[in-house]
Amino acid sequence: MNHFNPEQALSETRREFGEHGGVTPSISRSATFTVIDPEIMPEIFGGTRGPEQGGCFLYSRHFNPTVDILARYLSAMEGTEFSVCTASGMSAISCTLLQLCQNGDHIVSSDTIYGGSYALLNQLLPQFGITSTFVNPTDTAAFERAITPKTRVLYTETLGNPTLKLADIRALSKLAKAKGVALVVDNTFTPMMISPARLGADVVVYSMTKYINGASDLVAGAICTTKAMIHQLMDLHTGRVMLLGPTMDPRMAYDIIQRLPHLSLRMREHSRRALAVCRRLAELGVPVVYPGLESFAQHGLANDLINKDYGYGGMFTIDCGSRGRADHLLDELQNKEDFGYIAVSLGYFDTLMSCSGASTSSEISRKDQRKMGLSPGLVRFSIGYTGSLEKRIEQMARAVRAVGLVENR
Ligand code: PLP
Repeated sequence: MNHFNPEQALSETRREFGEHGGVTPSISRSATFTVIDPEIMPEIFGGTRGPEQGGCFLYSRHFNPTVDILARYLSAMEGTEFSVCTASGMSAISCTLLQLCQNGDHIVSSDTIYGGSYALLNQLLPQFGITSTFVNPTDTAAFERAITPKTRVLYTETLGNPTLKLADIRALSKLAKAKGVALVVDNTFTPMMISPARLGADVVVYSMTKYINGASDLVAGAICTTKAMIHQLMDLHTGRVMLLGPTMDPRMAYDIIQRLPHLSLRMREHSRRALAVCRRLAELGVPVVYPGLESFAQHGLANDLINKDYGYGGMFTIDCGSRGRADHLLDELQNKEDFGYIAVSLGYFDTLMSCSGASTSSEISRKDQRKMGLSPGLVRFSIGYTGSLEKRIEQMARAVRAVGLVENR
């Protein structure tokens, strides 16, 4: 068990209040800012005279006061020096990889990642001369074997989408440091629960569209890392965030700022409910995969990586064996039982569920899906916290019986 307390770290960082004594921060919507002293314009433009160095804000694609508040809160929560917020999780991932890799470079990536990230690594980046080798995220030695003199990055999700393979971040960090490459971790499934930077990751990326925002009403991302890396990403001449321009709108930043204080409560409740539902499924003999079950292949590693008292998260899977039975289960759960919604994405207060092979992993070929252990009948659940838990467990038990996933019990 890890003893970093992200909730405490977040609460101890300087709190930002609004103009006129508001208990909420103000939203600074201005695209541009008045420079009082024209002489210092070149320094402000060059990034050496920001508001913290006696200068001022300049233009909201560079830095914006409201977006900066969110970035500062995220850094506190992650235990990193700095963060930058982006318009989506994909832009956080693509800008990070494009910053760390040049034409001719190589990435060793987990083979169990979000379909969009897989497409980025497998289809788009090769067009810019950046190639990837995909390996099993549970096998640190496979990462080591795949490293070449051209490798610049090890890339993984903490808990892989959708099969929930857990990467040993500590071991990968040791390997990355020994080989002089960067470890980039997508922690979208496990904010607050696992703190990759505290375990040695060099860069932590997020889709904040999911748990961090928690209301499924916006798309956003973040890159949490060192000051030096953020300065590179924001460099006027070569910064990938600066020049590709996935800027976060300050109104979005405000919404997420207002939801961060209850992220820890939400994560704990997602965890509590997922564990109860999965224990019942396991009792019924359903092939359920959840890091909190003792049957989970990496249960010991999960206990080792998770911050104290956060539980095992809100994500679990059921392998229904075939696409037809997966669709039948989804239909029962949504249209008969009202258990949740058939929808991609995750981290919402209601339960979201989808058949991954036919949706968020469909960028991955059937052959590669098989290789990563993704069955066509796998249903991924992001468990919500609405309604009575007892009733939810009954709904789930009826649905798995109706589709024949429970035998003679
Ligand atoms: N990372 C993971 C693990 C995801 O599941 C997703 C989207 O589902 C993304 C990144 C991409 O995030 P966004 O949709 O915010 O661009």
